[in-house]
Amino acid sequence: MKSSPMKARNGRSTVRKIALEEHFDAPMIAREDYDAPVFARFPAEMKSRARAVAADLDSSRIAAMDAAGIDVMVLSQTAPGVQIEPDAAKALRLAREANDYLAERIQRHPGRFAGFAHLALQDATAGADELERCVTELGFVGALINGHTNGAYLDEEQFAPFWERVVALDVPVYLHPADPYVAPHVFRNRPELDFATWMWNCETSTHALRLVFGGTFDRFPATLILGHMGETIPFYLWRLDSRGRIFAPNLKRPPSEIIREHIVITTSGVCADAPLRCSIDDLGIDNVLFSVDYPYEVAKTAVDWIDQAQLTDEEHAKICHENAERILKLGILA
Ligand code: ZN
Repeated sequence: MKSSPMKARNGRSTVRKIALEEHFDAPMIAREDYDAPVFARFPAEMKSRARAVAADLDSSRIAAMDAAGIDVMVLSQTAPGVQIEPDAAKALRLAREANDYLAERIQRHPGRFAGFAHLALQDATAGADELERCVTELGFVGALINGHTNGAYLDEEQFAPFWERVVALDVPVYLHPADPYVAPHVFRNRPELDFATWMWNCETSTHALRLVFGGTFDRFPATLILGHMGETIPFYLWRLDSRGRIFAPNLKRPPSEIIREHIVITTSGVCADAPLRCSIDDLGIDNVLFSVDYPYEVAKTAVDWIDQAQLTDEEHAKICHENAERILKLGILA
């Protein structure tokens, strides 16, 4: 063992918890039923319960946070949202309405919620303008982007105005999973592997690596947040460097160096010590943040796990709240 973690001690449950990948469904977007494909595969009773819980930003969510021991949820519109809307003007209008709705709900519960902007990136400049409005006028702490926008990925030139604004505003971008634009052939006739089982991880890790290998972070030194224990990227740094030397000769520095400098990860949806330790050792303790993926994962399960995980107290505090406070500049809520 490289490290010798201390045993979990009583009292960790009182350590502040900030969770970053926590979703809601704004009514004007829920009506569009953009998430119908994934919900079509949910059992009916599970579907209606998930939709009801996602819609609530008041009593039942606060009760769930209190029961689990979560102090702050950073809220984001559930995937895929307006990014799959073919009408760019409609997508922009809905995104603005959803952001205004979220801002109003955040104000109802001071100190308990923060917000990620929901953006229509069909027009990157208009999306950047909306991000600026959300950060400067609504007090949001960054943006959560649900994968590609109608098949376009964030390393493509059309998104340069978005990245310029992200860097100017100095806010992080959470890259959240979505269905691939076209499902890879390997997934044929294996619906068990669709969505969160495996397909989203392939799609999202590849999207993030497009940014790394495409030089996006050299032009725009932003911070990208990946959920689900880094979508497996922490396990693969050595091979990315090794093969990158052959296949990416124009890269100015090793992929692992770019990833450590520009990508931080959350524990959403993965409550297991071994990948957590790998992520800390490979990315650094400042790059790992606690999250749940509420309401699709159980808040108490995630909190109970992180409080008993094999971490030093210093590591536990950084993962549970200190890293989030630094990256999201959340000190004002403390
Ligand atoms: Zn999620």
